[in-house]
Amino acid sequence: MTPVANNLLLIFGALLLLAAMAALWRIGARRSRARAYFVRRAVEDLGRGEFRASRPEEFTGGWAAVGGALTEAATKLAARVERLTDERDFSAAVLISMSEGVAVVDTRERILFANAAFAEAVGANDGCSGRPLLDVTRHTSLIEAVAGAFTTAETVRAEVEFGTVRPRTFALTAAPVTTTAARGVVLVLHDVTDIRRLERIRRDFVANVSHELRTPLTTIQGFAETLLGGALDDPSARRKFLEIIRDHAARLGRITDDLLKLSAIEGGSMTFHMEPVRLPQLIEHCIEAVSLRAKASGLAIEWHAPEALPLVRGDSLRLEEVLKNLLENAIQYTPAPGSIRVSAAVEGEHALLCVADTGIGIPSTDQQRIFERFYRVDVARSREAGGTGLGLSIAKHIVEAHQGRLWVESELGQGSRFYVSLPLCAPEPVTLQSEPGKSSGSTESVPQQHTEPTEKPV
Ligand code: ADP
Repeated sequence: MTPVANNLLLIFGALLLLAAMAALWRIGARRSRARAYFVRRAVEDLGRGEFRASRPEEFTGGWAAVGGALTEAATKLAARVERLTDERDFSAAVLISMSEGVAVVDTRERILFANAAFAEAVGANDGCSGRPLLDVTRHTSLIEAVAGAFTTAETVRAEVEFGTVRPRTFALTAAPVTTTAARGVVLVLHDVTDIRRLERIRRDFVANVSHELRTPLTTIQGFAETLLGGALDDPSARRKFLEIIRDHAARLGRITDDLLKLSAIEGGSMTFHMEPVRLPQLIEHCIEAVSLRAKASGLAIEWHAPEALPLVRGDSLRLEEVLKNLLENAIQYTPAPGSIRVSAAVEGEHALLCVADTGIGIPSTDQQRIFERFYRVDVARSREAGGTGLGLSIAKHIVEAHQGRLWVESELGQGSRFYVSLPLCAPEPVTLQSEPGKSSGSTESVPQQHTEPTEKPV
């Protein structure tokens, strides 16, 4: 072979080698682009929160380590995001289900978050989140508390009242909160309506008791001093004054007895001897006890109860106390020649006892309040009659301790009807002798149960 041919062969071989290398490089570059695409797509997926593991065919050879790292990163991120989501959902669920109203207000006084209790408290039934605070409420103390928390960066406390028909009182806390992302004020509304009501009742009660005790005490003291000052020597004045002292001492006794009874019921220390009670017998017994007073006041009392009235479950002495109180009130507040009618009937699973009078009636505004301690429509009239203003309050407690209900319907100048609803004993028919009094005297079958008396503390 000539040297020229040799050189040509070398050049041809070199060119062939170059072409092969170029082809290999192109193949390698195409594969690298494909891997780069897979890496980019995997990172974009992570950015979108799609934490999927890379597929094995996408990352082969030297890229397998990259694929593995991406899969591990995706798995860890998925776990962390899931944990954070769970924590966020849990916190949101806690806030949503809290009985306290909670809201977060940003620096532009826009509500970022508010739970249902907050919306209900401020009366925003269509929700609060995302709305300007002023759109939702214009309550001055609340707005000022938010502004104060922003300007002083300290917690502001206030008491606010929402609602007009059924006003509720809330203890408000406006606490500034600052995170790296935002600044705002967290509002918490805690309903203190019942606490304030109980505080008021206690205050009123102490004032009432002091007032009720002071009147007879002052009278007793005054007449005792008058006697000591010389009236003792005047026989007619002496007797009169001593009678006044005795009456007021008796009044003091009644008040303290009633107060002790009330406190025993409310403190849960009063025991109830529960047994099956026959209402007709109980009615007859109570009417007998007040009949002389009724006669003296020129009033007629009549009663009616079906012979086969089922038994109620209760403490007969306590129920007598309730009925006697209602009868005494009826006599007290019914001018002659009026009438009083007691009746009993079955209504569903209850016995309904009614004491109706044709007396002075009770103004509608007072009808709910007469069951409060010491509440009287006409204080002077009640005192004059020896009333303590505690009778109906005690009666209501006793009836409620029997799982019953006591209420009044009345029309001023027309009369009043006091109702007592008591649960019946579960029926269990046995043969009994009929009721004395109004009953016919024949043998009848009435439902009865629990002949053994039981005790039930309230
Ligand atoms: P009191 O010792 O004054 O009778 P109560 O608690 O028994 O106390 O009754 C409270 C008030 O309810 C009474 O002072 C009276 O104003 C009113 N009241 C109760 N029963 C009647 C009635 N039958 N008719 C009219 N008013 C009544």
